[in-house]
Amino acid sequence: MSQNNSYDNNNVFAKILRGELPCFKIYEDDYSLAFMDIMPQAKGHALVIPKFAAETLLEIPADMLAHTMTTVQKVMSAQKTTLGVEGVVLMQLNGKDAGQTVPHLHFHLIPEHLANLKGHSAEKGDMEQIKALAEQISQVL
Ligand code: AMP
Repeated sequence: MSQNNSYDNNNVFAKILRGELPCFKIYEDDYSLAFMDIMPQAKGHALVIPKFAAETLLEIPADMLAHTMTTVQKVMSAQKTTLGVEGVVLMQLNGKDAGQTVPHLHFHLIPEHLANLKGHSAEKGDMEQIKALAEQISQVL
């Protein structure tokens, strides 16, 4: 993975990318990875991350960002198909001051109305349900 100097190599998502921590994977290609959020703000909450060492949106080259957004499109489409939802919140936090808790660029895809979202990074979800949702979503990817 490419590197910039201020990036923390030991953040949780860097460890997931290196295979040092598990995740409920839903999609992977050469440039991006998608997996389930384990503290979901709604049922089916997924994350898409680039395979590039960027903390925020400002540190990723445009071509890598474009590829990551293509994965965001794929995952959102799969969520709509498999979960039968029409609305998906796309959220992305930049820096601690914005509430970012994991310092590796990521996009939240939350298939629920904004008004109904649970707290951010607040409560662990039901792992069996998350695993089942990952299998469901990944089947169309
Ligand atoms: P942010 O605050 O925007 O950086 O979001 C980080 C997200 O990562 C939160 O929604 C957490 O619930 C989620 N998260 C933290 N650790 C893990 C993990 N090991 N696997 C999946 N999601 C995680």
